[in-house]
Amino acid sequence: MSGVGCAQCLKAAAGAGLAGLAAQYVPSTAVLAQWSDLEVLGRGLCRWQGPLDGPRRVALTFDDGPDPEATPAILDELDRLGMRATFFPVASGVETYPDLLADIARRGHAIGTHGYRHEHHLLRSPRWIAGDLRSAVDVMDAAGFHPTWYRPSYGQVTATTLLCARRLGMRPVLWSAWGREWTTGDPAAVSGRIARRLRPGAIVLLHDSDRFGPAGMWRVALAAIEGVAREMRERRLVTVTLDELVGGEACEPLPCRGMVGKALAVSDRWPASRGGVAEGMNR
Ligand SMILES: [Zn+2]
Repeated sequence: MSGVGCAQCLKAAAGAGLAGLAAQYVPSTAVLAQWSDLEVLGRGLCRWQGPLDGPRRVALTFDDGPDPEATPAILDELDRLGMRATFFPVASGVETYPDLLADIARRGHAIGTHGYRHEHHLLRSPRWIAGDLRSAVDVMDAAGFHPTWYRPSYGQVTATTLLCARRLGMRPVLWSAWGREWTTGDPAAVSGRIARRLRPGAIVLLHDSDRFGPAGMWRVALAAIEGVAREMRERRLVTVTLDELVGGEACEPLPCRGMVGKALAVSDRWPASRGGVAEGMNR
């Protein structure tokens, strides 16, 4: 299953007029702001977030699960604090722990996917990326949770990443606030980093596994959730799923000006069924 490619995705990349290798890597340049602490972004730099002028809502997201120890602990903490989130499991892990997805959904959270393997897209070919996304959707479908949101591993976004995600019926999304819990053992530092970017429309990144980071990373994330919840209460913010955060609107990677920003926004609105991939997914 993991070797299955997505010919339509590759054709789409060529057919969209993406001029060669350079175009493949331009989107990753545009999203470098995901890693920046800058409040004011330079021209053409983007951060994914929901509407700034919408209701006082925030989307909490967790990457890298499912993890038999971390995911249930995170779910218990979210229940205790009355918070809802969107989980981005790695599909190869879903094959090992499919029951954890049912538990996530049963407790009222949303489920996207983090790809089939957790690898750097900037080091992979368009064919590899297309095959990985196809495999991820196949595994998630088989588990009964067709993903409509896709978060690429390491937040690396190539042109193929964007086009393939849309061709497979998924909307790519990164984040606007993160805890960087792999850099510290201090939960207060994690919640403090997130607090600096907490505002209506924020998309917060944490992790419910340490499979791709230092041992114990998820425990730091777990311990930081209460601090995030406290900040949110003080600012009258509530957590919702990504769908609820953005509604039917495009999840704009904003502020994002210039041609690259426009290309990213267009990819978010790209009709998922174009090219016949949607029909293929429903077989
Ligand atoms: Zn990840």
